[in-house]
Amino acid sequence: MTDAPVSPASDAGVSAIRTVPVALGDRAYDILIGRGIRAAGARGVAALAPGGAVAIVTDETVGGLHADEIAAALEGEGLRVARVTVPPGEATKSYAQFAAVCDAIIAARIERGDLVVALGGGVVGDLAGFAAASVRRGVRFVQWPTTLLAQVDSSVGGKTGINSPHGKNLVGAFHQPSLVIADMALLDTLSPREFRAGYAEVVKYGLIDDPAFFAWCERHGPAVFGAGEECAHAVAKSCAAKAAVVARDEHENGDRALLNLGHTFGHALERACGYDGARLVHGEGVAVGMALAFRFSVRLGLASGQDAQRVARHLESIGLPTRLQDVPGDIGNADSLLDAMAQDKKVRRGALTFILARGIGESFIARDVAREDVRAFLKDEFADSAR
Ligand code: NAD
Repeated sequence: MTDAPVSPASDAGVSAIRTVPVALGDRAYDILIGRGIRAAGARGVAALAPGGAVAIVTDETVGGLHADEIAAALEGEGLRVARVTVPPGEATKSYAQFAAVCDAIIAARIERGDLVVALGGGVVGDLAGFAAASVRRGVRFVQWPTTLLAQVDSSVGGKTGINSPHGKNLVGAFHQPSLVIADMALLDTLSPREFRAGYAEVVKYGLIDDPAFFAWCERHGPAVFGAGEECAHAVAKSCAAKAAVVARDEHENGDRALLNLGHTFGHALERACGYDGARLVHGEGVAVGMALAFRFSVRLGLASGQDAQRVARHLESIGLPTRLQDVPGDIGNADSLLDAMAQDKKVRRGALTFILARGIGESFIARDVAREDVRAFLKDEFADSAR
C-alpha cells in the first residue's frame, strides 16, 4: 500500500491542517485533518456550493453536541442550512430511516447543486451518503466524521448504505464524498469505548501492510486517545492508506478487500449480537475479528504464533476484546456464526473469502477458504472460551 502524500499546511492561525488527497480523477477530493478546523471545514463546504444550501444529517447525540456550532459556521459562509436528525445507533441504518432522510432532504429543497453534510459517525455517514446518492439521482455530499472510526475509515472511499434483515450493508451505493473534514476536537465528547472501537481500525492499517505503523501503534497507541497530535498522525496515516487502496480499486474488484481484515468474523459477531451496540459495537467486532484472523492464519500454518500473540496483546492493552468469550451474552455456536458469514458480501459462489496474514503487515486475500476449516477453528475458539 503506497501512502498518498500528506501535506501539512497552515490555516489562518488555527491548528496545522494535514490534507490527504483521494486521487479519483473527476471524483477526486481532499480529506482535511486537524484539531479545531471547523472554520476551515466550513470554508471548504462553501467553496463547493457558493451561496447554496446544505442539509446537515446528524444523529440526536451528535446533533445536541456539535450541530449548532457547525451550522453557524456554515451559515457564516453564506449557506442556507437545514437539519435532519435521526436516532443514534446501528438500527438507524434501516429502510425506514433511509426513506425519512430522503424525504427530509427533499423537503429541505436541496437541489442538484446543493450539498448533504453527514455529521456523525459511520452510521450517519453511511445512511446520509446513501440518501445523497439516491435523492434526485445523486446530490453531492460532505463527510464531517465525529467518531475516530468514521475519521479513519468509513468517511473515506464512498461506500454508503443501510442494513437489510439479511445482513449488514447489503443495500447501498458507491458514492464518493466531495470533501471529508476530520476534526480531532469533535472526538473530545466521544465515549472511551467508542474511541477504542475506532482505534481497532487504525491498528488494522498496520496489520494489512505496514508493520512500521503497527510498531508505532504499540509505542504511541495510548497517546492517540488524547485527540491531539498523535491522533492527527494516526488519522492521516490511516486515511492515506485507505485513499491509496481506494484510488487503485474503487469498487472492490481486487485488493480493496484487504480493508476487510477482521470484518468477516466481526460482521458475523455483530449479527449474532443482533446489532445491539450495548453488547458489541462495530470496531469491537473488528478487534475480535482481527485477532481471530491471525489465530486462524496460525492454524493454517501461514503466520507465527508470536505475531498472533503480539496482535492480541496490543489490542488488549488498549482494552479491546480479542476472544469470543469477550463478547457478552449468547453468540450461538460455530455453525450459526458460519451461517452468518455465508450472508456476507464477501462470499462468491458459496466459497468463503477471508483476509488472512503471513505476519504483521503481510495480509492477503484468501478466496476459497474451506468451510470445514473455518468450522473446526471456530469450534476450538468456542471450546477455549468455555475453559
Ligand atoms: P456510530 O455512527 O453509531 O457512532 C457511535 C456512537 O457514538 C453513536 O451513539 C453516536 O451517536 C455517538 N457519537 C458519534 N460521534 C460522537 C461524538 N463526537 N461525541 C459523542 N458521541 C458521538 O458508529 P461508528 O463506529 O462511527 O460507525 C459504525 C458504522 O460504520 C457501522 O454501521 C459500519 O458498518 C460503518 N462502517 C462503514 C464503512 C464504510 O466504508 N462506509 C467502514 C467502516 C464502518
